[in-house]
Amino acid sequence: MGRMLFAALTCVMAGMVLVGEMAADGISERAKKLHFSSLVIDTHDDTTQRFLDGDFDLGARNGLGSIDIPRMKEGGLGAIFFSVWIPSKVRGPEAVRRALMQIDAIHDQVGKHSNDLILVTTAEGIREAHKHGKIAALIGVEGGHMIDSDLGVLRKFAGLGARYMTLTHTGNTEWADASTAAPAHNGLSPFGKDVIREMNRLGMIVDISHVSDKTFADVLETSKAPVFASHSSCRAICNVPRNMTDEMIRALAAKGGVIQINYHIGFLSQEFRDAEKAHPEWDKAIALEVQKRCGNKEGCQLIQGDIITREYVLRGDLPRVEWTKIIEHIDHAVKVAGIDHVGLGSDFDGANMPFGMEDATKLPQITNALLEKGYSEGDVRKILGENTLRLMADVERVSRELSAAQ
Ligand SMILES: [Zn+2]
Repeated sequence: MGRMLFAALTCVMAGMVLVGEMAADGISERAKKLHFSSLVIDTHDDTTQRFLDGDFDLGARNGLGSIDIPRMKEGGLGAIFFSVWIPSKVRGPEAVRRALMQIDAIHDQVGKHSNDLILVTTAEGIREAHKHGKIAALIGVEGGHMIDSDLGVLRKFAGLGARYMTLTHTGNTEWADASTAAPAHNGLSPFGKDVIREMNRLGMIVDISHVSDKTFADVLETSKAPVFASHSSCRAICNVPRNMTDEMIRALAAKGGVIQINYHIGFLSQEFRDAEKAHPEWDKAIALEVQKRCGNKEGCQLIQGDIITREYVLRGDLPRVEWTKIIEHIDHAVKVAGIDHVGLGSDFDGANMPFGMEDATKLPQITNALLEKGYSEGDVRKILGENTLRLMADVERVSRELSAAQ
């Protein structure tokens, strides 16, 4: 190859790389500086399921899914709640056993990657981890069925580091109604109220994502500490039972709570939701294809559900949802609840992500978009993580007060 031609080619290639970087990024220096100096907290990730599949390395950059250490670092994620989840239909001692297995798996992963991760249980712990350049790993139990109606099991989970519990998943528990099942208890049963009181005492955040509107109201009446929705969005924008009405968001905020916006396209976009509802046969087809690709590997199932749904979108069967829809929900929630009551609960590795928010590396876009919308730097920091830290500190303070009063 002649020297001139080589030089010209190198120039073209360098130009291509440059254009590529600009197109892929588009984030202002100010946004980068703000994002990477903030504590960014995600209160709901389903990556734990992948730990159990046996073929996933959290320390390596993965082509599939949304979360691993290299991508968390690249996206400036400072703290992550790993979700402990099993389907609502699994009950009794088997539910407890499987929950303990997942808690073990989280401890195991954090131990294996102790240069990058540290298991923490408090707001102060998250700040300390951040100071030492580590990502704080926290545990959230997604579904009250896993305590098998036994406060002793709840205490065991808390002792092992679980810092929140979502009261139900998609089905009712023996003591609380879910948003996606026929009501059986008119909200919380008397034992359900005992669960809330014990969580307050233990310093576990009560998570109202997934519960029915009546359960939510009962929780607000019963809980002595502020509560949160670890991964819910706004019903005013996308009308699904899993999202919160403006009235609920206001009531949550009035008690000092936080709504952590969920990125799942079926909760973000009414258009997507309507299309999904109009074609229940696609849901079944997707589930069948997932089964074919994954068998019983649950982590694989969650990831492939996202991938196959995107295939439907790409061939035009389902509407395309952009990541900017997340900003719409954040902005709406801020208008309703005030700036101190909104945060981030992605549902990464457990849901269908919008275009442009495929994984944790895309998080700085949220900071950039909020700045562009005119949010102050202090307000952006609140949404990214400070609101969650304040809530955690409040829950911890109530726990200390209740323990001291005993
Ligand atoms: Zn969920």
